[in-house]
Amino acid sequence: MNFKLGGPQKYLVFSEEVLRHFERQRQRGMFSKEAGGQLFASYSGDSIVIAIATGPYPSDRRSRYRFTPDPVRAQQDIDTHFRQRRHFIGNWHTHPEEVPSPSPTDVKNTRRRFVESDHALEAFVLVIVGLAPFPRGLYVSLLDAIRLNVLAHCSEESISNTCPLYQPAVQARSLAGMAGTGSSKKAARRRKPPMQSSF
Ligand SMILES: [Zn+2]
Repeated sequence: MNFKLGGPQKYLVFSEEVLRHFERQRQRGMFSKEAGGQLFASYSGDSIVIAIATGPYPSDRRSRYRFTPDPVRAQQDIDTHFRQRRHFIGNWHTHPEEVPSPSPTDVKNTRRRFVESDHALEAFVLVIVGLAPFPRGLYVSLLDAIRLNVLAHCSEESISNTCPLYQPAVQARSLAGMAGTGSSKKAARRRKPPMQSSF
């Protein structure tokens, strides 16, 4: 499933495995708790492919409306996947609503992590998994210190150039820090855990 980025990497692509993982974690039950974790991606041609979605883990703190990942486990995953050339690019979590949208806390805390963590990315990906079938039930955005851009889903038919692009200002530059240059690799190795904060 593709979402339009509009920079040198044109698409943010979710692998089938990641989509299946999201589907399994949907908050279907009355009392089911939020789930979440990290997103790891690699480059493939003109796309950034989200190949792995980690979590939730038993050591995460979870309730119906809150998810706080275990920061030690989060850093272990960043190190492990980095060795396999997969880069941390953001976080995902579930909401018990049909068509999900971020809470003010989601935006505030993601922004805080973006500003205060040590990383080489120009934006973080924020994914929220809702109850409706995808893509309706999948919220995908890019956040930096100031901007928040919701990414548009591109169906296979519209992928040529009719796919709409919401607020294109950020996408052209976004995620450029992932490009695998020496400096970004160093930065990624140095990266501290995404700070512990809730979604
Ligand atoms: Zn949330």
